Amino acid sequence: MRVLVLGAGYAGVTLARRLESRLPDGAELVVVDEDASHLVLHEVHRVIRRPGLAETIQVPLEDLFDRAEVRLARVDGVDRDARRVSFADGTTLDYDYAAICLGSATAYYGLPGVEEHSLPLKSVADAEAIRESFLGAVGAAGRSEAGDSTDDGSITIDVSDEGAMEAEAGDDDPSAAPAGDGTVSAVVGGAGLSGVQTAGELAALAEEEGVEADVTLVEQLDHVAPNFPKNFREAVREALETRGIDVRTGTSVERVTEEAVETDAGTFAYDTFVWTGGIAGQAAMGGDRPVVRSDLRLDERTFAVGDAARVVDADGEAVPASASAALREARTVADNLAELVRHETEGETTDFAPRMEPYRFEVPGWIVSVGDGAVAQLGPTVVTGSAAKAMKASVGAGHLSSVGAVKNAVDLVEEELS
Ligand SMILES: Cc1cc2nc3c(=O)[nH]c(=O)nc-3n(C[C@H](O)[C@H](O)[C@H](O)COP(=O)(O)OP(=O)(O)OC[C@H]3O[C@@H](n4cnc5c(N)ncnc54)[C@H](O)[C@@H]3O)c2cc1C
Repeated sequence: MRVLVLGAGYAGVTLARRLESRLPDGAELVVVDEDASHLVLHEVHRVIRRPGLAETIQVPLEDLFDRAEVRLARVDGVDRDARRVSFADGTTLDYDYAAICLGSATAYYGLPGVEEHSLPLKSVADAEAIRESFLGAVGAAGRSEAGDSTDDGSITIDVSDEGAMEAEAGDDDPSAAPAGDGTVSAVVGGAGLSGVQTAGELAALAEEEGVEADVTLVEQLDHVAPNFPKNFREAVREALETRGIDVRTGTSVERVTEEAVETDAGTFAYDTFVWTGGIAGQAAMGGDRPVVRSDLRLDERTFAVGDAARVVDADGEAVPASASAALREARTVADNLAELVRHETEGETTDFAPRMEPYRFEVPGWIVSVGDGAVAQLGPTVVTGSAAKAMKASVGAGHLSSVGAVKNAVDLVEEELS
């Protein structure tokens, strides 16, 4: 009896750790990931401003499991009929039960120039590339305007008394200032959780660097954080605008060139363009995020958990792709999958398969960071300021300690609250 967990993100790690104690002794448990570390993805935007955090938010897979075998490999495809997973190195592995927890890829929707000219944000390397692009523009702006190169290669830049953020707030002209006039322009496409937090980091980075910056957040729908409750959306928008971020909702990106993002509401020149406009299935899933119902099963023996699937819960509610949901889905699947394995291996005589516990989408609330601030929604209440910041830090730290990475958890709290 072999159980495969494909992907070691929130869903995969939570599931596999639970299965370690729930599966009967004879069952083999294999966790597959192409990366040797578990990444706390919902904190990766922080690396744009705090590169030192990269180490804190990655935990070596070998430290996470006692019983599961870890296999480092890139999944190429899953043949559910044959119950066989194929890998990029040409090998295959058969399974009795599998859980697909491969997360998602960035969706580009075929928009001309978007994939070619944008920086995605799905990994530490992506966050580092965004930082490099933005600081490169800061350096160029400094050289062309007020900047003085110092002997050690760092740049000093004059800033107005009002501060960079205030200078551009409320500007009705949709065209951001082009690069080279001393202002750095960043455009973030897509105002979901990752886009909101990326815009916040870029604005805060500009402030720390003492450079004037136009940070524009473009969203096709009418709200930022469009899949989330109204009071949360409104508080997030306010937090963004307070930090001088130009929020353009109801604005569709149509095409992107080397210099500018063209939308149905005007053109935004950019030095750094980050695209967080949507998610698609991984290549291993043929680009698809299949729909699963509340038992999170694609078939009798294959589960799909977290961002890898479009989950509809026990109440028929579409579940937003999120770390919070992935963790909770994984807990339900661990119980159900262990029950199925027990039923099969312990020689149950009844023909009736065990009843699957349905997954019901329930999260205590939502929290995002916006630069050094944060917005938290707990039931009907929205909290901002230091209380929200503390909550945000505790969510990441809570996850890290739940997987046994206590030192990383402590480091994260220290960094977040410093
Ligand atoms: C910048 C950013 C900020 C976010 N902020 C929040 C937030 O504040 N709150 C929140 O709830 N959610 C947030 N999210 C969303 C959250 O991170 C995702 O919903 C969550 O990571 C989904 O978990 P998962 O386990 O399904 O996938 P992932 O965490 O993406 O894990 C997938 C795993 O599969 C592996 N993998 C992928 N393809 C292959 C392959 N072919 N072969 C082998 N291994 C593979 C990957 O290496 C990875 O380890 C944010 C996301 C981003 C990018």
